[in-house]
Amino acid sequence: MSMYPYYTIIKESNYDENAGFQYFAFPGSQDTYVAVEHYCTNPNCECTSLILEINRVMPNGKAQKIGDITLRFPDYKIEMIEAKAPYQAKLKRQFKQGIPEVWKSYILQHRNHVREIIGAVNGDI
Ligand SMILES: [Zn+2]
Repeated sequence: MSMYPYYTIIKESNYDENAGFQYFAFPGSQDTYVAVEHYCTNPNCECTSLILEINRVMPNGKAQKIGDITLRFPDYKIEMIEAKAPYQAKLKRQFKQGIPEVWKSYILQHRNHVREIIGAVNGDI
């Protein structure tokens, strides 16, 4: 697995600076967090995972990494959450029912796009 952020993979093509960033907040908190989609770029790899790198958006606009969520494609099942305390528990609670439905259509579209860019042989699901 060689995982890279979607925005760096598509940099050469039609680059949309908001593509691959899913924003959310924890209940009762004003802080903004962002899940940055990472995909495997090895065309011969048969892994079916993708990673959501979770960052806290600081008041100065900079991002601070708090953890990673590993998702399985194509069912979007959360395979692993790896984060620093107290975020491990917070993320587990936040995504107890899985990731938001609306993220799934973006992920499907972005994953297919990455497969197309890298010329994956097994691009069809
Ligand atoms: Zn892979």
